[in-house]
Amino acid sequence: MKLNNRGSWSLIALLVVAAIIIIAAAFYFGQGGTTGPVTVKKDSKLLDSKSKKETVFGQSLDTAKAADCSERLRQITMGIRSWKASEGTEANPKSLRDLGLGVGADYFKCPVSGKDYTYDPATGVVKCPTHSNF
Ligand SMILES: [Zn+2]
Repeated sequence: MKLNNRGSWSLIALLVVAAIIIIAAAFYFGQGGTTGPVTVKKDSKLLDSKSKKETVFGQSLDTAKAADCSERLRQITMGIRSWKASEGTEANPKSLRDLGLGVGADYFKCPVSGKDYTYDPATGVVKCPTHSNF
């Protein structure tokens, strides 16, 4: 009998702890819910690099966009390299559009800030004005 009582008390304690965790998680993730990923639009504040990222989802969204930016720069740099190989020249393309990557004009912009990448045809270096560390 004593074991059974202890067993049922443990179950209730477990349920209470689980409920507290769920409530705490709801508060944590629900914070600033209006800026969550469900309501993200193109002109959302989340895309503005200067705005504060208050939600965990907002931060991870920006992290994903920053990774996308890094990947774009890598792809463009590879595109420059293969353009030079196919053209049989050591000179860099005059414009990134000459690369023929088959992408829209938006591809040459940072996905986080929307600012155009800077490209120097003399050096062939492509940089993001927002992510100078890439
Ligand atoms: Zn960027």
